[in-house]
Amino acid sequence: LANYVHRLGAEVTIVQRGGQLMAREDKEIADCLHDILKEDGINIMLNTSTDSVAYESSTGITLSMSSEDGQKTQVKGSHLLYAAGRVPNVEALNLSAAGIKCHPNKKYIACNEKLETNVPGIYVLGDVKGPPAFTHISYDDFRIIQANLITNAQDPSKAPLTTTNRIVPYVAYTDPQCAHVGLHEAEARKKFPQKTIKTAKLPMSYVARALETNETRGMMKAVIDADSGMILGFTCLGVDGGEVMSIVQMAMMGGVRYQVLADAVWAHPALAESLNTIWGFLE
Ligand SMILES: Cc1cc2nc3c(=O)[nH]c(=O)nc-3n(C[C@H](O)[C@H](O)[C@H](O)COP(=O)(O)OP(=O)(O)OC[C@H]3O[C@@H](n4cnc5c(N)ncnc54)[C@H](O)[C@@H]3O)c2cc1C
Repeated sequence: LANYVHRLGAEVTIVQRGGQLMAREDKEIADCLHDILKEDGINIMLNTSTDSVAYESSTGITLSMSSEDGQKTQVKGSHLLYAAGRVPNVEALNLSAAGIKCHPNKKYIACNEKLETNVPGIYVLGDVKGPPAFTHISYDDFRIIQANLITNAQDPSKAPLTTTNRIVPYVAYTDPQCAHVGLHEAEARKKFPQKTIKTAKLPMSYVARALETNETRGMMKAVIDADSGMILGFTCLGVDGGEVMSIVQMAMMGGVRYQVLADAVWAHPALAESLNTIWGFLE
């Protein structure tokens, strides 16, 4: 949102309590996006906490902040977007009247991998069951319930659909896009301590298509299981990053090893050509 409001001509300051933008992304990706936004002219304040907000009709909004080392600063503006996360309004639903249980944190409705709540015949889908909170996850939840209750219900040969091992992609529609699928490096290392995890990073400036479209900022990063050649995760911060990520997602879904992508003939100058080269940077 900062990116887009800035493109519309506003002066923008991002105030972030943590030490990096996009806290869930690998640090090099977050740092790269940070540099892109900064280069575009967005003021970014990391490790900064908000102390107070004041409004005066003559001066507008004043945000008073403290940095980690205790330095006090202020920023003035016409608009303030508070983007510290959204939680479903489960409290307003009076779930206890139907005996439906929530997660211990009380923010979400609890369910199993078939999206069944603890009350037979009551199902839950979308954001209200907790993260990941994406439109495509809500839609997939719908597909699971629809198949289990209707399409496949009368067919004993069909196993119930579940959320187990669902590959989760997402795109932050910054410009350039920041797209990810599967595991981040730290998640992969934690989940598979016995496997040889390797990563490959490719600057977008090495991608012919990025050069031709004059948007060479960003980078790709792949996380692989070096023993099997399986791709565990992939991030593309770059022009049309969501489309490149989706190609890699397809490989992950099909159990296609990274070597197959490395040896494939991709059309020149499609962005997919980068999937020939990135694996040369594995370490
Ligand atoms: C700014 C922003 C940008 C986003 N961008 C993306 C994106 O690019 N891609 C992506 O995949 N996801 C994105 N998301 C997340 C995405 O919007 C949600 O994950 C998705 O909408 C969840 O769908 P849902 O059906 O579970 O919930 P919702 O879309 O929130 O629908 C729930 C509905 O229930 C209604 N409701 C609530 N309480 C009651 C009640 N008591 N009785 C009756 N109705 C009720 C609400 O009014 C609402 O219409 C974004 C979210 C935000 C806030």
